[in-house]
Amino acid sequence: LSARMMTMPLTISSLLVHAARHSGDTEIVSKRVEGDLHRYTYRDAERRSRQLAQALARLGTQPGDRIGTLAWNGYRHFELYYGSSGSRRVLHTINPRLFPEQIAWIINDAQDRVLCFDLNFLPLIEKLAPHLPGVRHFVLMTDQANMPASTTIPDLLCYEALVEAENGAWAWPEFDENEAACICYTSGTTGHPKGAVYSHRSTVLHAFASALPDAMACSSSDTILPVVPMFHVNAWGLPYSGPLVGARLVFPGPHLDGKSLHALFESERVTFSAGVPTIWLGVINHMKQNGLQLSTLRRTVIGGSACPPAMMRTLEDDFGVEVLHAWGMTELSPLGTLSRLKAKHRDLPPEQRHRLLEKQGRAIYGIDMEIIGASGQRQPWDGRSTGDLVVRGHWVVSGYLNREESPLQQLDGQAWFPTGDVASIDADGFMQITDRSKDVIKSGGEWISSIELENVAMAHPDVLEAAAIACHHPKWDERPLLVVVRKPGRELSREQLLAFYEGRIAKWQIPDDVVFVDEIPHTATGKMLKARLREMFREHRLP
Ligand code: ADP
Repeated sequence: LSARMMTMPLTISSLLVHAARHSGDTEIVSKRVEGDLHRYTYRDAERRSRQLAQALARLGTQPGDRIGTLAWNGYRHFELYYGSSGSRRVLHTINPRLFPEQIAWIINDAQDRVLCFDLNFLPLIEKLAPHLPGVRHFVLMTDQANMPASTTIPDLLCYEALVEAENGAWAWPEFDENEAACICYTSGTTGHPKGAVYSHRSTVLHAFASALPDAMACSSSDTILPVVPMFHVNAWGLPYSGPLVGARLVFPGPHLDGKSLHALFESERVTFSAGVPTIWLGVINHMKQNGLQLSTLRRTVIGGSACPPAMMRTLEDDFGVEVLHAWGMTELSPLGTLSRLKAKHRDLPPEQRHRLLEKQGRAIYGIDMEIIGASGQRQPWDGRSTGDLVVRGHWVVSGYLNREESPLQQLDGQAWFPTGDVASIDADGFMQITDRSKDVIKSGGEWISSIELENVAMAHPDVLEAAAIACHHPKWDERPLLVVVRKPGRELSREQLLAFYEGRIAKWQIPDDVVFVDEIPHTATGKMLKARLREMFREHRLP
């Protein structure tokens, strides 16, 4: 029997069209790179996104073409989210914190045709432009008044001039919801970064699910300030779930220090925020040092790295902010689990409630998960047994851009995505990350590739073998530690080796410390035993 229901493709543009029609006068506030605060409404954003779509067509781009962005959280970036995806172009958000060579590699791998960037990235793009043969148009995301008098970038375009030249008489097209909408790169475990390619359907379903009361509970009574950057897995989907519910949005621009954020939380009466643990350290310190409080902020999502229990307590007890601990990854668009109590947990003693909320949480609808033991069998959900965490769902990748091989693994005839995280799951479905089987290091919410660190060390003439491992750090959660075997008879020092990194990788990725050992433990097949190394240096005190 056929259903007799309307079918409409789940296109990203429908989110903004809904917001413009039903919450048209709701504000979007942006702290601009130019320094001032910009205000407009969903109605304005929708109109300008249409003008932008017209401009992208006028530049000669076709459906499927990639539009790269190097930009902070702001209204122009928001327009690029909708103007690109909504016109069947594919939005590619790029992390500006990567090393310039990596940025160029990613832009070329994604085959970006247009590159849009904030004013403060002009020097970076001037340096990169000669290495980006596929980029046909460079667009500076500013107005005529702020265009540079001279630049080495040929035919640099002005974003405002492009948008203002169009009349907006253009309608959002309907098309297959499974078409690509956006690309986000993850540094992954081996080799080069890999592009996750989201569809319109996966993005809209992710927005639906993440807005639910037991997830982020986004509502039209919220003012949402995403601290998590729009180049970090689409700011965890908030530029989509915000319009879905008609929430007021506040974009913080480039200044993410505690003082700037606190001022914006207060002046714009923000109720809900989201970010990695490190940014909250800055906000908490600023408030404590200056005797400040948060008068409107009521809850925040913290994820990307484990949220320290002490931070949850401080935010809740001292500042009245409920912390929603979340786990996700680029390959999951990103939301997988979020810690929320069930009704039966409400009357537990506070200590037990806290212990549950400190876990990474329960799967939201649309995501399923399992933990797999060493011999390939499902582990019990008893809160003690641990295993490799695998997931499947509507917004989980099935492959990567330009890669043939499938990352998925089979389990009882179903395909699952191996996360590289090790976890336990309790009888109520609360998942807790206990370890990581992948070797990458996560510092302040940003990845550092252990392979890249090892490659640099191995290029040093005095190094026989090197392993980079994550070491616990109170501020950054993890920092890289380099374990090195010198070549026989060589005298290499810690300082000499660290100096060797300068200019080869981004400064913040340089290891914090080096320890010299006689031997690095290996598996039977000759792979370095990173887990053993992590164990050996668990108590290592970084300088
Ligand atoms: P994002 O940082 O945006 O969540 P990434 O793909 O860069 O996405 O990183 C995903 C990885 O980060 C996870 O596989 C896990 O190792 C780690 N991670 C994310 N959230 C948490 C969390 N709440 N607790 C512990 N680790 C986390």
